[in-house]
Amino acid sequence: MSTAKVTSTGSSYGVQALPKIAYGKGSYLYDVNGKRYLDGSGGPAVYCLGHAHPEVTEAVKQQLDRIAHAYRYLFTSDAVEELTEIITRNTDGHFPNIIYVSSGSEAVESCLKIALQYHTARGEKSRRRFIARERSWHGNTLGALSVSHFKTRREPFEGSLLDVAFVSAANAYRPPEGVTPEGLVAHLAKELEEEILKIGPDKVAAFIFEPVVGAAGGVVPAPEGYARAMRAVCDKYGVLMIGDEVMCGSGRTGTWRALEHDGVVPDIMSVAKGLAAGYQPLGAALYSDKVHEALVAAHGGAMTGHTFTGHTAACAAGVAVQKIVARDRLLERALDRGAKLQQELRSALSDVAELGDVRGRGFFIGLELVSDPITKVPFPAYASLHAAIGRRAFDAGLICYPCTGNVGGTAGDTVILAPPYNASEEELGEIVSTLSQVIRDSVVEARRTVAT
Ligand code: PMP
Repeated sequence: MSTAKVTSTGSSYGVQALPKIAYGKGSYLYDVNGKRYLDGSGGPAVYCLGHAHPEVTEAVKQQLDRIAHAYRYLFTSDAVEELTEIITRNTDGHFPNIIYVSSGSEAVESCLKIALQYHTARGEKSRRRFIARERSWHGNTLGALSVSHFKTRREPFEGSLLDVAFVSAANAYRPPEGVTPEGLVAHLAKELEEEILKIGPDKVAAFIFEPVVGAAGGVVPAPEGYARAMRAVCDKYGVLMIGDEVMCGSGRTGTWRALEHDGVVPDIMSVAKGLAAGYQPLGAALYSDKVHEALVAAHGGAMTGHTFTGHTAACAAGVAVQKIVARDRLLERALDRGAKLQQELRSALSDVAELGDVRGRGFFIGLELVSDPITKVPFPAYASLHAAIGRRAFDAGLICYPCTGNVGGTAGDTVILAPPYNASEEELGEIVSTLSQVIRDSVVEARRTVAT
């Protein structure tokens, strides 16, 4: 028996002794004790084809039989070429330039570096500052963490992070004080413009945002027109736009790019989780020809990349996943079925007054619970409702993604659902019935905690 200590980066579930996994099959996972878990959130919105999909497994095996990894700076490969073609097609030709990496953080890190290099290449070396948003999460490496507004995760590293400016989150359920729903987009665009002017346009490299906020907000799609308004401000001042689609991209919201919904094309974007759907670690930074041409002219190309850039077996997994998603028309399914899933959740929870908001797009859905639905006052942090829901669901054999609690009174407890795109009707029904009961019980418990 192994005596090695398995370390974790911490879990919002607060699960002390993690069960040991035995295997996965479709939308279910099984631990070594035979307990079954329905994957209602695809882990952290990763497993868009469920587990052990035989076609993906076979494609990876075949690649491993040929070669696991051919160093990208010496060889190209069928897998890299095919995946590049697929991504270029799926992004309507806007992003033919791709740096493959092994995680979302590396993808974001690469996007930040590409933006800086672009300005250097164009002789605007003073453009070093990034503007990001409050209530955002972009990853754990130092650059990605610097643009993330996640206080507890930043805190141990403060002092060594990049000097980043933060503007308001785009959250229609919780707009800045005094801002009406109709005035929200104009208010946020003005705020970005003022921030650029305050820093000095010649000093700003890029604005980075999640088109649909994931872990830091509990799935928050920006209000209609937001991305277009922000694009216009960026363009006015020569500021690059970086769309972080690590969580919301690769079809999760029912379009391959989340920003397709808004009719907006950023200059640079990141993808990861759903790209190879967890069958291999894979992420990518995608960038436009405008950016690429500047990098090539000045430096011969993007000066970022890793040993495992374009890992052959990882790209083979990506090819297999993306082919199945297209063949089985799973984006259309996520879009339509996701909208219905939101309705089903609202109706199953219609007796829970504390259900403040159900929102999302496609198979990326967030539920926000509040102590008072009129004032939107959250449950106190000590009630830790989101973690209680995650833990109770896990005990009941449902995996959901509890992601935020009361942040200084500015947010309620949120839970994410991100089922596999190919989850069956029965599985979706089971997610709704189990989660609604779990939420009902957890709210009763939270009420009791607050009362005592
Ligand atoms: N960006 C976003 C929007 C994310 O949600 C995450 C992970 N939750 C990351 C970046 C970082 O990805 P990874 O954990 O794979 O490094």
